[in-house]
Formats: sequence, structure tokens, C-alpha cells
Amino acid sequence: MNDFAHTVLVVGSGAGGAMAAYELTRQGHKVLLLEAGRHYDPTTETPMFRPNGDAPLMGASTPDKDFGFYDSTVGGGWEVPDEPYTTAEGTEFLWWRARMLGGRTNHWGRYALRFSEHDFKAKSRDGLGADWPFEYDEIAPWYDKTEALVGVCGTNTGLDDMPPSSDGVLQPAPTPRIPELLIAAAAKKHGIEAAPMHRAILTRALDQRAPCFWATPCGYGCSIGAAFQTTTSLLPMAQATGHLRVITDAMVKTVTTDAGGQVTGVTYIDKKSGSERQVDAKVVVLAASACETARILLNSKTERHPAGLANSSGQVGRNLMDSTGAGLSALVPALMDRPRYNEDGHTANHLFIPWWGHQAHADKELDFPRGYHFELGGRFAEPGAYVSGDLQGYGTALKQQVRAHYGAYVHFALRGEMLPNDDCYMDIDPSVTDKWGIPVPRFHWKWSEHELKQVEHGLKTAKAILETMGATVGELPAAEEAIKKGGEIIHEVGTTRMGDSPEDSVTNQWGQTWDCPNLFVMDGGVFASNPHKNCTLTIMTLAMRNSAWLADQLKAGAL
Ligand SMILES: Cc1cc2nc3c(=O)[nH]c(=O)nc-3n(C[C@H](O)[C@H](O)[C@H](O)COP(=O)(O)OP(=O)(O)OC[C@H]3O[C@@H](n4cnc5c(N)ncnc54)[C@H](O)[C@@H]3O)c2cc1C
Ligand code: SF4
Repeated sequence: MNDFAHTVLVVGSGAGGAMAAYELTRQGHKVLLLEAGRHYDPTTETPMFRPNGDAPLMGASTPDKDFGFYDSTVGGGWEVPDEPYTTAEGTEFLWWRARMLGGRTNHWGRYALRFSEHDFKAKSRDGLGADWPFEYDEIAPWYDKTEALVGVCGTNTGLDDMPPSSDGVLQPAPTPRIPELLIAAAAKKHGIEAAPMHRAILTRALDQRAPCFWATPCGYGCSIGAAFQTTTSLLPMAQATGHLRVITDAMVKTVTTDAGGQVTGVTYIDKKSGSERQVDAKVVVLAASACETARILLNSKTERHPAGLANSSGQVGRNLMDSTGAGLSALVPALMDRPRYNEDGHTANHLFIPWWGHQAHADKELDFPRGYHFELGGRFAEPGAYVSGDLQGYGTALKQQVRAHYGAYVHFALRGEMLPNDDCYMDIDPSVTDKWGIPVPRFHWKWSEHELKQVEHGLKTAKAILETMGATVGELPAAEEAIKKGGEIIHEVGTTRMGDSPEDSVTNQWGQTWDCPNLFVMDGGVFASNPHKNCTLTIMTLAMRNSAWLADQLKAGAL
């Protein structure tokens, strides 16, 4: 290690950690990155051209392959061998992890929506939750830089829920699909606009990465680099500077401190040998994902930090938020028996419905406080293992029905903002440890009325649009049944939130912990709220901005 002489130690190689490594190395600082998962090379390991028909069970998900047989996640899922977590009595919470170089960016949906000033300052309007400690205008240029670097396709719509990117930043959006256009037309009759989804998928070549050729499932991974993942972009770029060293299979256990409370480095388990190692650093950046970072801090208790490191506010592990999630599907008769054509595109929605109700909130017409969006589904996709339960019969008649129904179902996936509440948090289980003796997180969870009422509104809206399209939608489920479990949307954030004061937040606006100036958090833990827009673009944008600030501090000798 001595021959390398790193200045900053980054924990985690996913969205936040790889962006921190990219920005710091670009600015000439030497970074040692520790990653708990194994090395992963997408160009040789990605099964992107394998059809479902070649997979056992037609690619259906199995307990060790939650998202299907060819899913790119080589280590992880809802369960990670040797790494349990627990839930408090009465709690249902799911925790999805990818233990591999690149973390969850190898697989994520790549939906990449900007938060707006409205999102950052929601408490100022309705008094709930917390405001962020900066203005939108201040972060907008960083969104531009991140979108340009990552490669986001989309359109500036002028809609009040979608702040524009600067000219030339966004790559062209793909053409909408027929079912999406039908949904958009029906939604318009209800005064609701659909818009091109912003997605971290290249539609034009960028750096060494090729544009999408619209034909393979993004969840399998994208060996040509069109779908953003840190393993084909930020990590190789950081490596190319000569300033990055990566150690995989390195499970960080604690952050170490000296008698003065300054951070001195970390301890980690070398998973290959099982031995514990200590490594020093001038600055430590935690980007192990929101709940894992909080776990490391809570496990780094010392006499000086009895409630865990950086936890003088008592907020580490609190304010845990996910997105709300619910779904509604229906068969649209107008889409049945369509002539067949290639409708692949990139393998997610090309249009979505952004939140349209800001004015209704302001006019107090809604009985829930924050917004949601709909991710739209429906197209001629590669057939998988599932057949609709609507179909009856057998033989030729059944086959004809299957053909007629193919491409005629549409789906609305609701993703909404959740407010932090006192019942949703994580702490450390007092008696359970992982394979290496590291105490594990314990989750506590309860949706509040805000989320349940929001989901009820969303289901009714989706039903109204579907019926306008001519679909028959049965009775809607109660919101309590329809809402997905905590953690299930995989947007967990908030456990080390940023703020203006050390009394009620863990970090300042730069992700620098109030208690230890040389300890930073650069994952979703720092979120002060969790707007309905998927979180990862903002995780990366903050990691870039805050690493640039950290780089300046180092250059100025302030750290
Ligand atoms: C199926 C799926 C779909 C998704 N779709 C979207 C989407 O469309 N849009 C969106 O915005 N978000 C989406 N997400 C969420 C997105 O992937 C995460 O928000 C994002 O990756 C979080 O970034 P991160 O850096 O905090 O964590 P990760 O990307 O999970 O990276 C954390 C890394 O740290 C490593 N690590 C953890 N603990 C330790 C430790 N103790 N020591 C060393 N290393 C450690 C992990 O192994 C991992 O590699 C999706 C996620 C999944 C799984
Ligand atoms: S559809 Fe495009 S972005 Fe997705 S895996 Fe295929 S080439 Fe990559």
C-alpha cells in the first residue's frame, strides 16, 4: 500500500463511490477504493445477447436470481449469503444489495430525473420533513455536468415537475411506443401530460461508449457501455488517471479515529482470507449505500463516540425513506391483434407521467402532501415465463388468445415521495452478526397515512386513464394491500441526512460529517427528503459536487 500513498479512502464502488473516485482522481488526488463485492468485468461477463428461451424456466426469477436468470447481478439480491439483516417485530422491509464492483449500477433501471427547487424546499411549503441545505440554482450546473458525463437521454418539457437541462446536455430521447402514445392521449383527456423519460442510456456515442442498439434487456447488463454503469465508465476513467487503486472483497467494518476524534482510516475484512486489516487515510468517504454506511458508522462506536461515529445528533439510521410503489395493469382491447413489428427500444419505458399536481397541492385539493409519477409499461417485448391469468382454454384456441393478447397489456408503476417518520429507521441488531462477526442492521418500518392516501389517489388515477383507453379495470385493492413493502423500490435514503445544523443532521451540505471534518458521506444517506424522482442521478450529482469541494479543501490544505 505504501508505494501508492493514497490521500482519500473511498468505501463502495457504486453510484456515489465511483463518482467520488472519478472526481477526486481527475483532480489529481490519489484514491484507494475498498469494495466488499468481487471484481466484475461487464465486457466479458454480461449475458446481454442470451434470449430468455435459452434460460431455465424461460428466465423466470428464482430465489438467487431475483430479477431473472440472466440478471447481471453476480453477487447479491434481496438476500446476500453470509450477510443477514433483521427486522423488528411487525416490520416488513426488504434490503437489496449488489456485492460486486459497480454495486447496483450494473443493474439499476437507469431512470434519471432531476429534483427541482420545489423538491428541495418542500418543508418550507407544507411544514413536513426537512428542507435541503442548498438551493436548486446552486446544484443545477452539477446536474448538467453529471448528465453530460453519465449520458442521459430525454427532453426538456417545460413541465413544472421537470427542471430543464442546459442546451446540449441531454441526448435525444427514443421514439415513444404505440401503447405509450395511447396512454399519453388518454391521460391528456384528464389534463395529465406524459413526457419522455430521462434515462442514463446513450442514444449517441460518448467517450469509449457506444450508443444503444435497442435490442437487449438492460437488466442483463450492457457490455457496450450504452447503459450507464460505473464499471464501464467512471471506474475505468478513474483508473486511467493512474490515481486509483481498487481492492475488491474488502468488507469495511469500522471507521477508526484518534484520541482527538479525527478519522484515521478504516478496518476491513479481507473476505478471501477472512483476516482483519487496518488501513490509514487522511480523509475517508463512505459511499457503501445509505443503510450500509449508517451501519458502519453505528458500528464505529468508541468512548468518544458512544452512540456511533458522527452521531452526536442521534440522526444516524433515522429518517430512513424509500419511494412508495404500487402497480396497476390492464388489457387494452384496442392494442389486441396488432400487426407485429419491432418495438424493442431501450428496455424500459420511453414515456412516463411526471407529477402534475403541484397546483392542486397549493390549493389544498389533495388529502396527501407529496407527489408521485407513473412509469409506463406496454410493448412487444421478448416473451418470458409468464402468461396472463385472464386466458382460458387450451390447444389452438389458447394459442390464438396468447397471440391476440401479446403486446396488449399496459402497466402503470407508481413511484411516489415518502416523508420521513419516527417509525422508519434502522439500528444495529443487538445479537445478530454477519459471517465476519460484524453486527447487522435491524429495520423498523411503518407507512404513514400520507403514503397510503397518495397510493389510493394514484390507483384511482391509473384506473381512470385505463378506462378512458377502453380497458376494464376491476375493483381497486386497498392502499394498504397495494403499497409495496419498505425497501422494495430500492430507493432507500436519508439515514445520514444533510442539513444546516449539527443538532438535527449528520452532515453539512458537502456531505462532511459535522462531528469529524475528515469523514464524508457520498451516497443516498445524505438525502434530506426523497422526492418521487428516482434517487441515483442526485446521488451522483452530489457526489461529484461534494468531491470537487473536497478536492479544493485538500488543495488548500484545509484538510
Ligand atoms: C433493480 C434495481 C433497479 C433500480 N432502478 C433505479 C432507477 O431506475 N433509478 C434510480 O435512480 N435508481 C434505481 N435503483 C437504485 C440505485 O441502484 C441505487 O440508488 C444506487 O445504486 C445507490 O448508489 P450507492 O452508491 O449508494 O450504492 P450501490 O450502487 O449499491 O453501491 C454501494 C457499493 O458499496 C459496497 N459496499 C457495501 N458495504 C460495504 C462495506 N462494508 N465495505 C466495502 N464496500 C461496501 C457494495 O458492495 C456496493 O458495491 C435501482 C436499483 C435496483 C437494484
Ligand atoms: S437496450 Fe441498449 S442500453 Fe439496454 S442493454 Fe441493450 S444496448 Fe445496452
